[in-house]
Amino acid sequence: MHVLSMKDPNAPRVPIVEHPDVRRMLMEMRAMSEGIRALVYHAARLHSLAEYTEDEAEHQRASDRLEFLTPIVKAYPTDRGFEIATMAIQVLGGVGYCREYGVEQYCRDAKISSIYEGTNGVQALDLVGRKMTMKGGRLFMTFMTELSAFIDEATGHEALGGLAADLGAARDKVANIAMQFMQQAGTDPIFPVLSATPFLEALGHVIVSKLLLEQAHIAYAKQKALMAEKGVTDEEAFAKDNDDAAFYYNKKLTARFFIKNILPRVDAIAARIQTRDESCLKAIF
Ligand SMILES: Cc1cc2nc3c(=O)[nH]c(=O)nc-3n(C[C@H](O)[C@H](O)[C@H](O)COP(=O)(O)OP(=O)(O)OC[C@H]3O[C@@H](n4cnc5c(N)ncnc54)[C@H](O)[C@@H]3O)c2cc1C
Repeated sequence: MHVLSMKDPNAPRVPIVEHPDVRRMLMEMRAMSEGIRALVYHAARLHSLAEYTEDEAEHQRASDRLEFLTPIVKAYPTDRGFEIATMAIQVLGGVGYCREYGVEQYCRDAKISSIYEGTNGVQALDLVGRKMTMKGGRLFMTFMTELSAFIDEATGHEALGGLAADLGAARDKVANIAMQFMQQAGTDPIFPVLSATPFLEALGHVIVSKLLLEQAHIAYAKQKALMAEKGVTDEEAFAKDNDDAAFYYNKKLTARFFIKNILPRVDAIAARIQTRDESCLKAIF
C-alpha cells in the first residue's frame, strides 16, 4: 500500500485499490452491504417463522419481532444502499460519474427505494410513533432485552469482547433516547417527531453491528478450527492462501470495521438529538 505517495511526486503509479482512502470506501461499502443483507435475511427468517410455524407461541414471538423491525428494515437498508451507490461513483472518480460506465445508474436506481412503499421519513414516524409504543412498549423492551443478553455474553469473548463492549455503549445511547421519548411524549410531542429519522438510523447501526458481530463469532470459531486442522498459526498468511480462511478472516475484519468506523455515528446522532434544536421549525422556507 502506498501511503506516502501524497508527499512523493516521483512515487510509482499504483492501482487505485492501493490508496488508503479507496480501501476505506471499499470497506464501508462492504461492511454496509453485508450488514444490510444480514438485516434483510433476519427479517425474512422471522417472516417465514411467523408464516409457517405451527407453534402458536413461536408464531407470536416471530410476528412481534418482525412488526417492530419492519420500519427499520424498510428505511435503514435503502438509505445505506444509496450511500453505497454514491461511494461506488467516488471510488471510480470521473469514470464513476460518467454515464458510460453504469455505476451512476445504480445510484439513481437505488434512490427510489427510500421513497416508494412509504418514504423513509414516514417509516421513521411509524417506528417512533407506533412500533415503540405498541403493546405498551413490549416489542421494544423485548428487542432491548435480547440485545443486552447478546452483549453480556459476547463481552466475555476471548478475541471479540471489545467490540461487544463498543456495541453496549451504543445500545445505552439509543436506550437513553428511547426513554426520553417515552417519558416526555405528553409534554413535548415534537421531540420524537423531529428526532425520528436520526433515531431510526442510530437503531439501524446498532442492529447491524449486532448481526455482523454474530457473523464474526461464527467466523472466528470456524477459522480457529480450520487453522488447527491445517496446523498453521499465521492467520493473515493463511487467509492469502486459502479461500475459506480468507472468508472468515474478512468476516471478522468487516464486523470490526463496522463497529469501529460506522457505529460511532450513533454518538453523533445522540448528541444531535440531545441538543433539541428546533431551528428548522422556525426557519422560513
Ligand atoms: C418510480 C416510482 C414508482 C412507484 N410505484 C408505485 C407503485 O407501484 N404503487 C404505488 O402505490 N405507488 C407507487 N409510487 C408512489 C410512491 O408510493 C410515492 O411516491 C411515495 O409513497 C411517496 O409519496 P409522495 O410521492 O406523494 O411524496 P409525499 O408524501 O408528498 O412526500 C414528500 C416528502 O414529505 C414527507 N412527508 C409526507 N407526509 C408526511 C408526514 N405525514 N409526516 C412527515 N413527513 C411527511 C415525505 O417523507 C417526503 O420527504 C411510485 C413512485 C415512484 C417515484
